[in-house]
Amino acid sequence: MQVYTKILIGMLVGAIVGLTLGPNSSLLEADLYKVTSWDRLDLQIDKDDPSTALRLPAKPKSPSGKSTAPKALRLEILETQDTELTDKNGDSETLPGWSKVNLPITNQLLLRDKTGDVLEALGDPEVGDTVPLWVKHKHTELDSGGFTVWPIPISDFGDTLISWMNPVGDAFMRLIKMVIVPLVFASLLVGVASLGDIRKLGRMGVRTLGLYMGTTAAAVSIGLGVAHLINPGSFIDERSRVALQAQFEGAAGSTADAAAEAPSTIENLLNIIPGNPVESLVSGNMLQVIFFAVLLGVALTFLDNKNGQPVVTLMDRVQNAMVVIIHIVMKIAPYGVAALVAEVVGTSGFSVLKGLFVYGLTVLIGLALHGAIVYGLIVKYLAKLPIPGFLRAARPAQLIAFSTSSSSAALPVSMECAEENLGVSNPVASFVIPLGSTVNMDGTALYQGVAAIFIAQVFQMDLSFGDQVGIVATATMASVGAAGVPGAGMVTLAMVLTATGIPTVGVALILGMDRLLDMFRTGLNVTGDLAVTAAIARNEGDDLRVLTKTEDVRDAKRGFERRLDGGQEPIEPE
Ligand code: ASP
Repeated sequence: MQVYTKILIGMLVGAIVGLTLGPNSSLLEADLYKVTSWDRLDLQIDKDDPSTALRLPAKPKSPSGKSTAPKALRLEILETQDTELTDKNGDSETLPGWSKVNLPITNQLLLRDKTGDVLEALGDPEVGDTVPLWVKHKHTELDSGGFTVWPIPISDFGDTLISWMNPVGDAFMRLIKMVIVPLVFASLLVGVASLGDIRKLGRMGVRTLGLYMGTTAAAVSIGLGVAHLINPGSFIDERSRVALQAQFEGAAGSTADAAAEAPSTIENLLNIIPGNPVESLVSGNMLQVIFFAVLLGVALTFLDNKNGQPVVTLMDRVQNAMVVIIHIVMKIAPYGVAALVAEVVGTSGFSVLKGLFVYGLTVLIGLALHGAIVYGLIVKYLAKLPIPGFLRAARPAQLIAFSTSSSSAALPVSMECAEENLGVSNPVASFVIPLGSTVNMDGTALYQGVAAIFIAQVFQMDLSFGDQVGIVATATMASVGAAGVPGAGMVTLAMVLTATGIPTVGVALILGMDRLLDMFRTGLNVTGDLAVTAAIARNEGDDLRVLTKTEDVRDAKRGFERRLDGGQEPIEPE
């Protein structure tokens, strides 16, 4: 069975486990509240005595001033008492009113409770104890009648299962990320040194950036177009809107905080030059690593051949070894992918998905159109490759991008796909792909276009033509600055919204579906990197050809199959 078939099966298994046994599964009993904004909970020690009311302390600002994701509080539900509410139309509804829960006493709680008041009110319990308490549900009356309720219960079993699978997904992510910096540094250095001509590199750089920016601007425009045609904002009912805002308000706040700290365009440009290249390698700042590797590669070509050679040879061997590590990691990819997908599918609540269905569909239609039209044209006319063959060659990278939601995690696999499956030369692949994984995010930009229009529609704002040109410009620039990690597009979305004057609280509306859509947009981001790489490679005169399945299976030295069949050989130092 081919590698990518196994990964595909892993993804399917993950999706099924997430749906049926995840925290939001309708097959399991919903017996847990998981709350991130602790201080929003109305608690009472004695349900009938309001003087025992209690509020948990809010998350303190971290000393660095940066906001980090708040730790969720897990409250096991012991019993729930319903209450009958009548809305202004006179219709009554039975909803949960009070729930008795077990509050776990954690170190976190102790640390947050600086004055010790909360602990004292709870009778000074020890860490590890649980204290029974009552949670008063919050009901919000809707203008159109009816109520929403908060918090919403999930399954304790599902939540625990997903948290057990988590380390498998994390381990896979770390293993694949481990390769990125040495691989990019080594292969780019070798690639640049083997070009031996700065002008050639300069030409390639300008063309690459031009294509990347052009496709990104096209992507935002397609996003705006589909959003106007489909009008997703008109499909979201008030109930979903209020419920989503209540559920994701806290998280949206931290996203906006993070966006406020994002550097300006000038700072971003200056940031490409490393103050200390070792630090760039350590922190994995990709643009700085690229900058330094290119300069060092060029510098080596100015030395005498015999002086530059040993460094280039060493880096060439490092690069080859990194490729072997990728192939080892790909062996466990199906398990890692299953865990990652199970988590995303399992934690995306069905009610959220239902409310945002048309919005999600609009994003997916936009992504599909961009892929088919823009990449279709690039692959067919610039790269001169058959589209089905290109898609087959790109599939391993697409699957890893999809399941990790990270173009940087997919980077090593994308480089393998370009070189092995498409025949792109090393200098082109090692320059164009790492650049693309940070600079080129068409899926992200397209999604920002749709999200901006969607939020504006929900808040009934009219956007002028100028506003929309502004969205294209800021989304294109913002996608350059965004790192290829899960959820990065959400932070830059807050910047796009601020620049256009759309309220950033709107982020709360779409946050619940973000992680799921992130998978699709990252898949497109990586496809875009590969399409542009193929086009540039053709332009540079590379002999492009899609590796066939038979060639892949037959030749252990090429493609993704049987790469580890050769066995190991002991090495003695000279
Ligand atoms: N996850 C995306 C990527 O890595 C970025 C984003 O859209 O959030 O390409």
